Amino acid sequence: MTGPVLDFNTASSPSQLRITDIRVADVSGAPMRCPLLKIATNQGLEGYGEVRDGADPVYALMLKRHLIGENPCDVDRIFRRLRQFGHHARQGGGVCGIEVALMDLASKAYGVPAYMLLGGKYRDKIRVYCDTDVDGRDTGEAMGEALKARMGQGYTFLKMDLGIGQIRHIEGALSAPLGYLGEQDGMREQLRAAAKAGDRDKTRFCRNRLYDMENTPHPFTGIRVTEIGFQALEDYVRKVRQAIGFEVPLAVDHFGHICVEDCIKLARRVEPYNLAWLEDMIPWQYTEQYVRLSNASATPICTGEDIYCKEGFQNLIDAGAVSVIHPDLLTAGGMLETKRIGDYACDRGVAVAMHMAESPIACLAAAHTCAAIPHFLALEFHSNDVPWWQDMVSYAPGGRIVDRGWIAVSQAPGLGIERLNDEVLAEHLTPGSPGLWLSTEEWNDWFSHDRLWS
Ligand SMILES: [Mg+2]
Repeated sequence: MTGPVLDFNTASSPSQLRITDIRVADVSGAPMRCPLLKIATNQGLEGYGEVRDGADPVYALMLKRHLIGENPCDVDRIFRRLRQFGHHARQGGGVCGIEVALMDLASKAYGVPAYMLLGGKYRDKIRVYCDTDVDGRDTGEAMGEALKARMGQGYTFLKMDLGIGQIRHIEGALSAPLGYLGEQDGMREQLRAAAKAGDRDKTRFCRNRLYDMENTPHPFTGIRVTEIGFQALEDYVRKVRQAIGFEVPLAVDHFGHICVEDCIKLARRVEPYNLAWLEDMIPWQYTEQYVRLSNASATPICTGEDIYCKEGFQNLIDAGAVSVIHPDLLTAGGMLETKRIGDYACDRGVAVAMHMAESPIACLAAAHTCAAIPHFLALEFHSNDVPWWQDMVSYAPGGRIVDRGWIAVSQAPGLGIERLNDEVLAEHLTPGSPGLWLSTEEWNDWFSHDRLWS
């Protein structure tokens, strides 16, 4: 009996595919630290993943014992096994980075682009917004010119920073417990000096002390913006809009650790400037404060890049706390979980944008996921000014991955990456990293009794 002719990759046998190894390449300067992952299999297929920007590859390596011998096509089963080892922000990076590599492997094994495993695509190209963190950003004129240059490069959606970082130098712009801001500056200086002198004990001390200072949540810093400060921030936005006009969407981020009352005052103050969203004004955990902020302002309020898995987004969406969510799939739970999050938001009328400040691996994983979400605003790109960013990979479709503000969704199997370019990666290893793709055998049998209930 002759069956139907199926068009799939007979060179691979998905049901017999097994994971044999995981290796890492810890790269920095793209512009962040990007720990890249490679998962090897018994059929010669390799899957590429990445730990969240700025995090450590150990978050992924500690999971290796759960992966050896498994079929990577069982993406969801493996994800649910690993899920307990992820957490919010960078701590989600290991679980999510592995999930991306599994999705790359599974879609390569089936010979289809990764978006097909997410239910297919809603769009052929993904709008990219360009974050802009430029020299001279202390003035609205300089930022306006930098954003205009981005528009000249084809970008149709923009983002900039606006917060206490821009007004620190203005006398009378901020109030804070006397000495508080200077103490942080002093500790940063001590850290730089200790690191330069190679003093490891002092470096560790300063880093930990600074960690405590910088992780004081917004309500507890006592930092307030004065009327002089609010006027300066409003002037900044007005000058930016004078430069770029009102027709291009402009999102705003990095306000600094100020209380929700000052966030409300600032949000009201910038209403005439038609901003696309105000991002992460307060920690995402404070759902009730987000509701206050959203109810007090007519500018869309956004958060999400540090939320691990769907439940955190559900809480905010169900409470009416945000108008835009902004997951980073290397924290949110990988491609499949981010698709679930996007669907949930779309069902409830909350817009979806996506955070991404990583290598082409994460960028393409995000692009495939953005393609598979019903409604989608724009995907972040943080590496416009890194000339070797795309050279980290050989891109199967050829051409630029991010081309004049858009990503054409690749039709090549997997994420669309043929191979990683080791010569380029070797030039940009994170200082102190022992080398590229070294043996990780010491993680094969590392064991911990991690049962969550008895
Ligand atoms: Mg952000």
